[in-house]
Amino acid sequence: RTTAPPELTVTDVTVRFAGLTALDAVSFTVAPGSVHALIGPNGAGKSTCFNVLSGLCRPATGTVRLGDADLTRLAPHRIAALGMARTFQNIVTTQGTVADNLMLGRHALSRSGFAAGALRLPHARREQRQHLDRAREIAELTGLAQHFDQPVALLSYGDRKRVEFARALCLEPSVLLLDEPVAGMNAAERARTVEVVHTVRAELGLSVVLVEHDMGLVMRLADEVTVLDFGRRIAHGTPDEVRSDPEVLRAYLGT
Ligand code: ADP
Ligand code: MG
Repeated sequence: RTTAPPELTVTDVTVRFAGLTALDAVSFTVAPGSVHALIGPNGAGKSTCFNVLSGLCRPATGTVRLGDADLTRLAPHRIAALGMARTFQNIVTTQGTVADNLMLGRHALSRSGFAAGALRLPHARREQRQHLDRAREIAELTGLAQHFDQPVALLSYGDRKRVEFARALCLEPSVLLLDEPVAGMNAAERARTVEVVHTVRAELGLSVVLVEHDMGLVMRLADEVTVLDFGRRIAHGTPDEVRSDPEVLRAYLGT
């Protein structure tokens, strides 16, 4: 990437579910190239916020902007095409090889349609080769190079979770939404994931929005933190500022 990713701005977003206010006028900004963590107790509204960002949930009021583009009422595939890719907390692929899974991510970017590819037209073959080269580069960045041609079913849980991460990167996003990327991982896998997020961010220059329960991980990865509680933003700042905020301690300790 030669240019910085656009700024992501969430302004006064409110989401209601049958009488329950899941998000209450929440605002935050993700600076270009930064890692922004969304934290808060269970039910705070973190997943709802991710669903708004990726277009799966439409807010009652408020806006989401990525640079000059207003994403607020766009369909999920349009939002993805504008540069926002996400991973899901509980989806781990078990089908095909690592290469197959990464090429699935590349297909969304393909210019010459499936028909041309199936007919093996020369330009489609060239494009396919370029996609495969790029998929291999992304596998290298995410520590999956040695598994590139292996079935994902044979990989460890941590590696399989990273396949999801790599597949999202194959969309060449400017903003990557990571939903609990280390959930279910052991300590070594967690450390590896932290390393990979740092590498990817440095090499690809993208912004990251992270929902994560592991506070240690948030402290090691995030530049800025937004804390939600009962749908409201109760604190915002650097990890150190947020960690010592009395309201945050109260929300987490329930006192
Ligand atoms: P978090 O991810 O921080 O744990 P969620 O965003 O999942 O919180 O949920 C916020 C609140 O909204 C919770 O009270 C939850 O029960 C409620 N909620 C989330 N999704 C729905 C839905 N589709 N229908 C009704 N209530 C929902
Ligand atoms: Mg959640």
